[in-house]
Amino acid sequence: MRRTFLFRYQIPSTKEIAEAPALDRPAPFGYSPGMPHHDVVILGAGASGLCCALFAARRGRGVTLVDHGPVAARKVRISGGGRCNFTHLDACAEDYSSANPAFVRSALARFGPWDAVALLAELGLGHEEKNPGQLFCSQGAPALARALEQACRNAGAEFLLRRSIEQVQRTDAGYRVHTDHDELTCDHLVLALGGPSWPDAGATDLGMRLAAGLGLSVLPPRPALVPFVLPPEQQKLCRELAGVSLRARLQAAGHVVEDDLLFTHKGLSGPAALQLSLYWQRGQAMHADLLPGLNLSAELREARQSKTRLKNHLAHHIPARVAGILLPPARAEKPLCELSNAELDRVVAQLTAFPCTPQRTEGMLKAEVAAGGVDTREISSKTMQARNCPGLFVIGELLDVTGRLGGYNLQWAWSSGHAAAQYV
Ligand SMILES: Cc1cc2nc3c(=O)[nH]c(=O)nc-3n(C[C@H](O)[C@H](O)[C@H](O)COP(=O)(O)OP(=O)(O)OC[C@H]3O[C@@H](n4cnc5c(N)ncnc54)[C@H](O)[C@@H]3O)c2cc1C
Repeated sequence: MRRTFLFRYQIPSTKEIAEAPALDRPAPFGYSPGMPHHDVVILGAGASGLCCALFAARRGRGVTLVDHGPVAARKVRISGGGRCNFTHLDACAEDYSSANPAFVRSALARFGPWDAVALLAELGLGHEEKNPGQLFCSQGAPALARALEQACRNAGAEFLLRRSIEQVQRTDAGYRVHTDHDELTCDHLVLALGGPSWPDAGATDLGMRLAAGLGLSVLPPRPALVPFVLPPEQQKLCRELAGVSLRARLQAAGHVVEDDLLFTHKGLSGPAALQLSLYWQRGQAMHADLLPGLNLSAELREARQSKTRLKNHLAHHIPARVAGILLPPARAEKPLCELSNAELDRVVAQLTAFPCTPQRTEGMLKAEVAAGGVDTREISSKTMQARNCPGLFVIGELLDVTGRLGGYNLQWAWSSGHAAAQYV
């Protein structure tokens, strides 16, 4: 049975709010006194919040975005190593992990990868395909973030940046949001606060706490698309192999991923490790085939008459450093013709089923996304509105929807933001 976790959001008392020193502070950027009632308030000016704001403002809705950052979309600015892998052309429901796997279908069908390409083109930005289907912004990630923010402003959306969100209340007429500088009321409230991964870019768990405070179920967050840390007994090996990258097939938790694997000083990273971290749970065994696609056993047996040393023979397939470090020196130096059957089997096992069970991951600090989040069974897949909380919408990474590595998470941010924008 799946566990459901409810976070308790500490709602400040009226007295605490009344005594908050907001009025003593200098008016921040974007502040205008006597703020009117808003059609839509979006908490979080990241990827999904901006997309929602843009399309809702274009529908003529009065939109205000609230964020604690000094600029909008800080994660977008660092995404894809600064190049922003903004979509994947093959994105479909199977690329997402969620307790409710069909949830993403509707939003993806209405705003898919080619819509993201068209949006970038409209913003004056181009794209480049790196690996098949994986699209990056030609002008870089910061340019995309800036262009999106400007497009929102051009459409009439207002930004309240550098705000600390203190309280959210449901009222008879909609919602009330208290920040350290403002009190906002609105008909429709959109939670677009992302997940707690990569706090250096402004990520927090506030979205989950607010959602729980408003009565929604939240599945516990866990770091995903994150490097692995191997146990102490394998740390020496990691240090010796740090920086080596090779194609590998990783296997854990019934999932197999074949992609580039990078050895780090602490463990494993690179696309293969990051992808598998989406499924791996603490304590589960993991194995790596460092020669995927090669029948090493048959290949070595065929070369059995050769006087070539094992390590030199293997150098045709894997970096010499890897074989040199993973195999005992006496065996690596042996000519193939002198290897016993048992030795040959051990070499095959060592290189194609290399045991690399992680001790842990590098955690939220280095996770590209947080899996878990608001339970999508309580959200309409058509509108992104909470079923039991009219006027409350949840979008982006805050939902229990986590994409694979390769542009799927930003695509989900665009798709869910666009879907909500039609109904706020
Ligand atoms: C290093 C890195 C690289 C990545 N690269 C890619 C990539 O190339 N392709 C891809 O598809 N995905 C990538 N991702 C994932 C992707 O960036 C996220 O999935 C996506 O940004 C989620 O969008 P969102 O709108 O839900 O949340 P976010 O974009 O995280 O936006 C949330 C917003 O809420 C604000 N906020 C949070 N807490 C508070 C608070 N307490 N008070 C006020 N405001 C708050 C934040 O400042 C932020 O602006 C990457 C992530 C990281 C960390």
